[in-house]
Order: sequence, then structure tokens, then C-alpha cells
Amino acid sequence: LAKDGGKHSTAVYEASLHSAALERLQLRADLQRALDVGELVLHFQPTITLGPGEDTAPTVHGFEALVRWQHPERGLLAPYHFIPLAEDSGLIVPLGTWVLQEACRAAVALQQPGRPHVAMSVNVAVAQLAAPGFVELVQAALADSGLAPQQLVLEITETAVLAGADVVAPLLAQLRAMGIRIAIDDFGTGYSSLSYLRDLPVDILKVDKSFVDHVVGDEQGASLAEAIIAMGQSLHLTTVAEGVEDRDQADWLTSAGATYGQGYLWSRPVPLVQAAALLSARAEAVRTS
Ligand code: C2E
Ligand code: MG
Ligand code: MG
Ligand code: MG
Repeated sequence: LAKDGGKHSTAVYEASLHSAALERLQLRADLQRALDVGELVLHFQPTITLGPGEDTAPTVHGFEALVRWQHPERGLLAPYHFIPLAEDSGLIVPLGTWVLQEACRAAVALQQPGRPHVAMSVNVAVAQLAAPGFVELVQAALADSGLAPQQLVLEITETAVLAGADVVAPLLAQLRAMGIRIAIDDFGTGYSSLSYLRDLPVDILKVDKSFVDHVVGDEQGASLAEAIIAMGQSLHLTTVAEGVEDRDQADWLTSAGATYGQGYLWSRPVPLVQAAALLSARAEAVRTS
């Protein structure tokens, strides 16, 4: 009986594995089509300059481009649903190319005469960096859109950096020599040695939301975030606090000396037209103040 039950549950397990595999195959085919027919869209989340007056008239320093998939049956899908799949299947490379080109075009569209330049951050997967011709691809995206390299930030996760340190370091150096800035995304979550900060050409640390979550009312949490921000300062790096959801966190981060904040407190990621409206609202607030 036990043996029988074992067989049965193995069969059930295999059947569910099978359907999960089928679903992945289906989604993969869908994703290829999505790229071809243009179902991917970018949303943009502002980064805010922390400092006096930020609570009354937030200064938008730039935006991060975040990809979504307008799926015909499933609706608007967050990256969590398809980025891992894209990474496993290699589709992340063409997907990432599209994101890069589209984000550069968007940054130029957001630019208004007489207003400060907006920075545009783009997430880059390690497979993109490792693919031949990445630097040329970035150069082409800048040239085609007319975006200045100084306005572009490439975000790379700590884990990605470590996965390919040998390949990644010279590439980052080349990109940086062009004037592009490099950010370490989700900083502090990679369980890694900090020595890579000495060896890698990096400009910005994005302090992960998991630290920001604990800055208020948690002594240990606050100390940890304080140490990361202080380290960033002493290495002459810009710090961006991710996932800021309330005023107390923003005030704490401002006092601690973080350079920029990003989070639902100011805005969720929004379509391009709304991103443009955020910039105009800021300009209006300054004009009338
Ligand atoms: P990330 O680069 O760390 O982006 C920040 C994520 O945190 C975004 O999720 C954003 O919507 C979310 N977020 C921002 N502020 C808050 C907040 O105050 N509270 C909460 N709860 N969440 C906040 P999203 O858009 O779902 O993206 C998730 C991840 O997917 C990104 O994390 C990034 O690693 C990846 N991703 C997004 N777009 C791309 C892309 O074009 N290429 C690649 N390779 N990865 C991407
Ligand atoms: Mg990011
Ligand atoms: Mg991040
Ligand atoms: Mg994150």
C-alpha cells in the first residue's frame, strides 16, 4: 500500500512538474512574442534629492526605468513574473536592449528646455554585460536617442557583479570612461565581502529597501543603515535609499546623509506622461514659491 501511495504521489508530483514546465514554456513563447509585437512597457519611478524643503517641493533628480509586460490575458505583469524566466532563457539580452533604447528615448522626451538634466537609471542583468558588444550597444542607444552619457546610470546588482567580477570590472571601467555612472543595486543583500568596492569602478550605492524598512524604531536597523550611508560618504559614493514609504523614514535618511530617496512616499513607478507631470509639478512649485 505504502509503495502504491508512493507511486501515486510521484505521479501527481510529476504531473504538476509537467504542467509547471508547460506553463514556463508557454510564458517563454509568449515573452518572445511580447518582444516582437511590443507588449513590454516601461514605467518610471522618480529619485528625489534629500535635503531641506524636500517635504514641501520634492526635487526630482531622475528616474529609474522599470519594465512591465502588458500581457493580453494576464494584464499588467510585474518584472517578478517574467524577469527570472527571461534570465533563464537568454531572452533577457534582447529584452534588456529594448529597455535600454526605450529608457534613453524617454529621458530625452522628459528633458525640457531650461530645466536641469534628468538622470535615467536602467537595470542591467549580468548576461547583458557578458554578451559581446554591450559597450557598443550602449553607445548606439545614446547616439540614436541623443542622450548625454552623463545622464545615464546603469544599475547592476551586487550578486551580478560578483558572479562575473573578472568580466564585469573592465566593462564598467569602459562605460564609466564614457561618462556613464554605475550603481550597485540592492546594496547590502549580496552577503558579499565589501572589498569589491575597492576594485570596481562604481559611483552609486542603492541601499536596499530591507535596510530602509528598519531605520525607524529599530536601534540595530538604524545603526546598520547609518553605517552603510557613512561608508558610502567616505568612499565618495552617492547613496540612494530604496523603498522609502513614509515621512519618518525620509527624515531619518536625510539626517543620516543619504543623497537621494526613491519610494512610494513620493511616487510609485508611473507611465511616461505621469513622469513628465511630476517634473512639471516640481517646476511649478519652484516658480510660485
Ligand atoms: P529594483 O531595481 O531594486 O527596483 C526597485 C523595485 O522596488 C521596483 O519593483 C519598485 O517598484 C519597487 N519599489 C520602489 N519603491 C517602493 C516602495 O516604497 N515600497 C515597495 N514595496 N516597493 C517599492 P519592480 O518594478 O517590481 O521591479 C522589481 C525588480 O525587477 C527590480 O528591482 C529589478 O531588479 C528588476 N527589473 C525591473 N525592470 C528591469 C529591467 O528592465 N531589466 C532587468 N534586468 N531587471 C529589471
Ligand atoms: Mg534597480
Ligand atoms: Mg534596487
Ligand atoms: Mg531592490
